[in-house]
Amino acid sequence: MSEWKKYMAENDVFADSVAALPHNCAANPYLTVLPDEDDPRVRHLFYDARIPGASTWMHLIIGSERALLIDTGMGAGDLKGAVEALTDKPVDVVNTHFHGDHTGGNGQFARVFCPEYDLPYLKSQMSHPEMRMRPLCDEKDLVPISDQTEVMPFSDGYRFKLGDGEELEVIHTPGHTPGGCMLLDHKSGILYSGDAVLSTPTLIIDRFPNTWYPEGLTVTAFRDSLVRNLPRLDKVKKLCPGHGKQGIDPGYLHEMIDCLNCIIEHPERHETYDYVDDPSQRQIMCAGRAMVVYSDSRIR
Ligand SMILES: [Zn+2]
Repeated sequence: MSEWKKYMAENDVFADSVAALPHNCAANPYLTVLPDEDDPRVRHLFYDARIPGASTWMHLIIGSERALLIDTGMGAGDLKGAVEALTDKPVDVVNTHFHGDHTGGNGQFARVFCPEYDLPYLKSQMSHPEMRMRPLCDEKDLVPISDQTEVMPFSDGYRFKLGDGEELEVIHTPGHTPGGCMLLDHKSGILYSGDAVLSTPTLIIDRFPNTWYPEGLTVTAFRDSLVRNLPRLDKVKKLCPGHGKQGIDPGYLHEMIDCLNCIIEHPERHETYDYVDDPSQRQIMCAGRAMVVYSDSRIR
């Protein structure tokens, strides 16, 4: 028996501790803004979804010439105003993947960057606002889903430049979504790991649509991308994912590869996952601290 229940309980305690902090953002009453312990250029923006596991992190890196906002949360309250209160630099906005808990605030911005293989999913989402993931907020504070935002696709290796010697590199990590990516800040060594690698389970489940690029929605694609990218991940000092604990040590990346290999080679070793009431989330594999919840149809 692995210790996944212990890790989930630890994550819940962590989420509760952050949710208990004062919402300290004048422009947006749903956010808590926290500095980074190591990088003075960074502000972490926490949205308390008040649903276990659904609270999200956004990250603002304020470079010497430009700033980068990573993800836009669920669309509760004025995110643009919150960002403008933190920096007067021009801001680029990037989505780690298309899911509605990371793109809900896109409609406030004139332009967002989206991973190329997630583009058709994001476009489809933008033209069906009635399907949106709904945050718990006052109706007046809900950011509308807009199809007016310009969407700029990017691919593996793209670099967001924030100033002299300040670059964040895109590392394409399919699996959770076909285009899902992590962003490596070469100056700080912080890996903004989205929903690919996080302290709660990575979800590779058949509830997620597979209309486009289904080959990018598998455990095998995720494993292959992590193994292939290990040399590029050499300089990672810590991980800041889209949910749960922040500042995870890079050894976790290796535990994740072990976990993915175990699913591919020994799928019978899975345990029953009963943390959420969702028939598409019934199997969990663990290796060390790494956890993946997956469907059999998404292994290969
Ligand atoms: Zn998410």
